[in-house]
Amino acid sequence: MQQSSAPGAAPVAGYFGPFGGRFVAETLVPALDELARARETIVATEAFQAEWRGLLANYVGRPTPLGEAKRLARAIDPTGRSLARLWLKREDLCHTGAHKINNALGQVLLAKKMGKTRVIAETGAGQHGVATATACALFGLPCEVYMGSEDVARQAPNVGRMRLLGAKVVPVDSGSKTLKDAMNDALRDWVTHVQSTYYCIGSAAGPHPYPELVAEFQTVIGVEARAQALLAQGALPDAVVACIGGGSNAIGIFRPFLSDAGVALFGVEAAGEGIATGRHAATLGQGRVGVLHGSKSYVLCDDGGQVLEAHSISAGLDYPGVGPEHSWLKDNGRASYLSATDDEALAAVALVARTEGILVALETAHAFARVGDVARLLAAKLGRPVSVVVGLSGRGDKDLATLLARLLPDSSPGGGAS
Ligand SMILES: *Cc1c(COP(=O)(O)O)cnc(C)c1O
Repeated sequence: MQQSSAPGAAPVAGYFGPFGGRFVAETLVPALDELARARETIVATEAFQAEWRGLLANYVGRPTPLGEAKRLARAIDPTGRSLARLWLKREDLCHTGAHKINNALGQVLLAKKMGKTRVIAETGAGQHGVATATACALFGLPCEVYMGSEDVARQAPNVGRMRLLGAKVVPVDSGSKTLKDAMNDALRDWVTHVQSTYYCIGSAAGPHPYPELVAEFQTVIGVEARAQALLAQGALPDAVVACIGGGSNAIGIFRPFLSDAGVALFGVEAAGEGIATGRHAATLGQGRVGVLHGSKSYVLCDDGGQVLEAHSISAGLDYPGVGPEHSWLKDNGRASYLSATDDEALAAVALVARTEGILVALETAHAFARVGDVARLLAAKLGRPVSVVVGLSGRGDKDLATLLARLLPDSSPGGGAS
């Protein structure tokens, strides 16, 4: 393990305050340098941007709408007064059902332009695997997706989707058999095939330049949401709320609001079975500073620095790490990080389904579980009704088996086992 650049007072490439950097095997340093150069010589060009934006418009279906959630707003307000206007940024309407495709298309297009002949990825919920398999099919590149065997079992529909799209799904049996272990194996694969292979990381985590690259591709969410909020209500929102796994949908929607001092930013992590039980994935709330998957950030670990297993009902949040930019936003106070339990997320899925007719992903539901608290807090502080933008990161179809088993245990067809 070696660090190729050191943190300092001045902004250093790859660092967010003291977080980020590049803590990787020496064999990966040339590949990361090549990728960092490609950001400047390829991604930054007008030709690349035009091609990627064209795909976002005509393949993904962007811009996604910013819709008002009036019945949900009434439901979260027990007093019946108008506490908040809620606006939903509908990434569930993206092709493949979540925000992941914005990043996957950007990175796989980059892989093609870099002359790579093979793409690998890791996946938790399967959404990033599906997005990467989709982009690889579109560009005619072979794709292998590492996935914890626990996630292979609980996200069967997405495994089938990846295979239909022509990708090879590689189950990972080590450790907790979830996202962290899949990422370890993907990094190992990359070390041995670094010449030919592009590693498409699915969140704003990993060694420099990945957190920056992924955030750049996901910032389209916040750029659209900011302009749409201004158009819809003539003002910026008072708050933005998003769920946090590795942190890509949240950083994508936060970034364009960072210099708007009047906009409070809230990330919501998975509290799993409850913080007190120790079975959770609240990395920013409960973790310590450490190194995981090539970057320095908050990590769930024990006194000896051993990385702990994370627990969440949502596979996409079941990760003991978090992107370094969120660690910096927590420490410098620009964003606040809350958590929601499995049960609160399930209740939020049911509430949003019945009030808005939208079946959200279990990951996304964590943001909805805290939106009432955020609205009450800000309304009390500002002494007026507030407006809140919620990052609706994805749709819940992939979670149907879990949702039926937990929310409708008597009526789930075929037992509904998750
Ligand atoms: C993967 C996923 C997440 C968590 O990943 P982030 O990188 O934190 O955004 C959240 N919501 C959905 C729908 C996902 O598929």
